[in-house]
Amino acid sequence: MDVILFGPPGAGKGTQAKRLVDALRIPQISTGDMMRAERAAGTALGKQFDDFMSKGLLVPDQLVLSLIEQRLKQADAKSGAIFDGYPRTVAQAVALDGMLAAQDRKISVVVSMEVSLPEMIERIALRRTCESCGHIYHLRYNPPPSQNACGACGGKLVQRKDDTEEVVRTRNEEYLAKTAPILGHYSQKGVVKTVNGVGSLDEITARIKSAIGVS
Ligand SMILES: [Zn+2]
Repeated sequence: MDVILFGPPGAGKGTQAKRLVDALRIPQISTGDMMRAERAAGTALGKQFDDFMSKGLLVPDQLVLSLIEQRLKQADAKSGAIFDGYPRTVAQAVALDGMLAAQDRKISVVVSMEVSLPEMIERIALRRTCESCGHIYHLRYNPPPSQNACGACGGKLVQRKDDTEEVVRTRNEEYLAKTAPILGHYSQKGVVKTVNGVGSLDEITARIKSAIGVS
């Protein structure tokens, strides 16, 4: 089963994708992580990514798609994958559909996590990140054992510089203009399921599982 976790930046797609890996027994496809890994390993694709990224240029869609295509052919991903943060444009969605079709696959369900802009702004304001290990907490929904210390490593919890209302608003505008139209693309195929993206991590995971039809 190929699944897209969809939603605005800061909706918690990555966190929920990791939680679904065990339930669905299929891997998470994170293009950012995969690109970093290819570059670090110095593969042919990684060197091509370097060429663009070192010049501050966007990596062309086709290169990213090649990376995903390779990943989907690996044994653990043959029966499906969870996409989060990809595709980001309708053009990428169309290209992904075509690549999947060539492998006799298709996106079975797009789970759209709905989070309002005021909720996202509040969420960011209450987000704390561990300076040492990068663990992310939310003072209400995923609180650390103590306000100032990481439960995993004891590191200091800080508010990241880009966790501001202005950054959230800018990213949301870009999302609405470029990414949100993907929902229209998949709605035509009848595969979009909408879930309330506000609540505890467990509550949201349960809603997503129920939308996908797994327990
Ligand atoms: Zn930590």
